[in-house]
Amino acid sequence: MYQRIEVEDFVQKEREAKLVALADRLAVRFAERASKHDREGSFPIENFEELRQEGCMKLTVPREFGGDELSLYELVLFLERIAKGDGSTAIALGWHLGSILHFRTTRHWPAHLFERLCRRAVTAGELYNGYASESGVGSPSRGMKPRTVASRTEGGWLLSGRKTYSTLLPIINHFSVSASLEGEGATGDFYVDRSEGVGMEETWDTLGMRSTGSHDLLLDRVFVPESSLISLTPDGQSRQRPNDGLGYLLFIAACYTGLASAARDYTVTFARTYKPDSLGTAIGELPLIQQQIGLIEADLITVRTMLYTMARRWDQEPEQRAQLKADLGLAKYMATNRALQIADRAMRVVGGSSMFRSNPLERIYRDIRAGVHNPPLDDLVLRELARRALEEPGV
Ligand SMILES: Cc1cc2nc3c(=O)[nH]c(=O)nc-3n(C[C@H](O)[C@H](O)[C@H](O)COP(=O)(O)OP(=O)(O)OC[C@H]3O[C@@H](n4cnc5c(N)ncnc54)[C@H](O)[C@@H]3O)c2cc1C
Repeated sequence: MYQRIEVEDFVQKEREAKLVALADRLAVRFAERASKHDREGSFPIENFEELRQEGCMKLTVPREFGGDELSLYELVLFLERIAKGDGSTAIALGWHLGSILHFRTTRHWPAHLFERLCRRAVTAGELYNGYASESGVGSPSRGMKPRTVASRTEGGWLLSGRKTYSTLLPIINHFSVSASLEGEGATGDFYVDRSEGVGMEETWDTLGMRSTGSHDLLLDRVFVPESSLISLTPDGQSRQRPNDGLGYLLFIAACYTGLASAARDYTVTFARTYKPDSLGTAIGELPLIQQQIGLIEADLITVRTMLYTMARRWDQEPEQRAQLKADLGLAKYMATNRALQIADRAMRVVGGSSMFRSNPLERIYRDIRAGVHNPPLDDLVLRELARRALEEPGV
């Protein structure tokens, strides 16, 4: 029998099937809570407690430290399904799991710090995230110089400043931050424990992804020992670390694809079952509706194919990872922009009732809007594609 391209088609191994089953089980419960947390802008602590109980915080941790060492492909598969239940939970968890996968590949952290980060995820289910964004200096993707300052003190550093968009902040106990070294013409990345001087201002009142807890992180003379300096970059130079093509950022594409997929499922069910009196049959019988659903399918199949192809290639072609960067960026560009289109079409099919807060499409539409503000940024992806085309030999 002919198989359609569905997410199941990308599930090829027993371990992948188990991951998908776990994600599906969790996503059902997350979906039940999504609307309440979205409305209140509250952090879904229960979701993270359940993820912790299921051992999900150690999914990408290397085996040598007791983790499951998921491949990028497996991570993408898992997060797409989680996002079908709740986009906020998926993207917040994705920063933790994706970052560990990235550090596992590049090993650019000092070994003792990376081991500590991993052991904390394994033994206590602790979450990690990196905080680089700040107000008024521009996105970290564009190489901004932090206004957060690190000044030398005996045995280490004192960090002071404010970070914006600090996803997971309500429940995080350790994180990394970037800071300019006072009077030294360099930027440092520091590993920080939630300790005296660390605060939070609840600023995250946004259009979408409202339950990610991405509030402002406040740092007031927070002591960080010398041994917690991750890396140091002199001004005017770019960060020195192995180039793995930033494959881990595909987790972002996976989350927005999962949201688009949830919109698609809702819409298809609606079109099958909604029979207005004026029509006497399901709206799915109408050519106009079929056209819209066909376009939704075309977009979803395209982004999924691109997403899983790139994840597989990144896993299987380690020596090519740096060269894959442009196509990895394209997969994210396609996923987020097509997701916007899918959500818009889904709402047109469902009609005015999709605007009610009680309708899941209303939240999904707003959540999807956040995707274009996550890295890699659209203009940087397009510039990279253009550069590659213009430099292609023989054209
Ligand atoms: C849901 C969500 C979660 C996030 N979580 C985190 C997190 O955990 N940690 C973290 O550090 N960050 C996080 N971020 C922040 C994110 O990475 C960006 O820093 C943030 O979205 C601001 O980016 P921006 O492009 O809008 O900002 P800006 O760089 O200020 O851009 C504003 C506008 O100016 C233009 N612009 C600015 N500078 C330039 C330039 N040099 N060249 C050309 N155009 C320019 C941009 O294109 C844009 O149109 C998160 C963001 C979202 C939406």
